[in-house]
Amino acid sequence: MEQKTHILIVEDEEKIRTALVDFLEFHGFKVTAASDGLEAEQAVAREQFDLILLDLMLPKISGEQLCSGWRRKDLQTPIIMVTAKGQEKERIVGLDLGADDYITKPFSLEEMLARIRAVLRRTDPARSVGQTFRFSDLDVDISALRVTRSNEEIGITKREAGIIQYFAANPNRVIGREELYKEVWNEVLTDLGTRTMDMHIAKLRSKIEKDSANPQIIKTVRGAGYKYEP
Ligand code: CA
Repeated sequence: MEQKTHILIVEDEEKIRTALVDFLEFHGFKVTAASDGLEAEQAVAREQFDLILLDLMLPKISGEQLCSGWRRKDLQTPIIMVTAKGQEKERIVGLDLGADDYITKPFSLEEMLARIRAVLRRTDPARSVGQTFRFSDLDVDISALRVTRSNEEIGITKREAGIIQYFAANPNRVIGREELYKEVWNEVLTDLGTRTMDMHIAKLRSKIEKDSANPQIIKTVRGAGYKYEP
């Protein structure tokens, strides 16, 4: 059986915390809750999470302090910051501190769920599409590093597999070059990085597109990046 996605909820308001725990458990997540900053710190030291919902205003240790501390220690777990209305400044600080997204209170549970799924898709495409999936008119097998069209088998590199996985997990969305490079190469985009990425995209297109001069699977969006439309 596939392991459940484990979410840490850090929230001092009991009503919100309880509602989130019930709701996310109902939707199939494994949930751990912390009611202040210290409990959150201990939970993270003790266990691995797939995502952290982090309230900003917390007793003992603030959400900001937790977030910056974790990122300093190189914790990669995606973090969604939860801010109250009127904390616009804090929200921006939060993103600077390494949060992946933010949501403003009051939020609906459905909105929160959508946000969680979006962040998980973005930060862990493998989780959302799996090892074998359909990509346009291709059957992709990530572990075999192979795509198949009708009866034609095409070998792909690990990097190309990463690119395909990321587009498959993020359909119908313009993906900027910075984002693609950050998510697939795990690095900040530089000039050299841009050239490297262009080369990989060109090579991948020559393998999977019917006409790589006029790509239909991974489309170029002028001045914005790329887009995959299934
Ligand atoms: Ca709070």
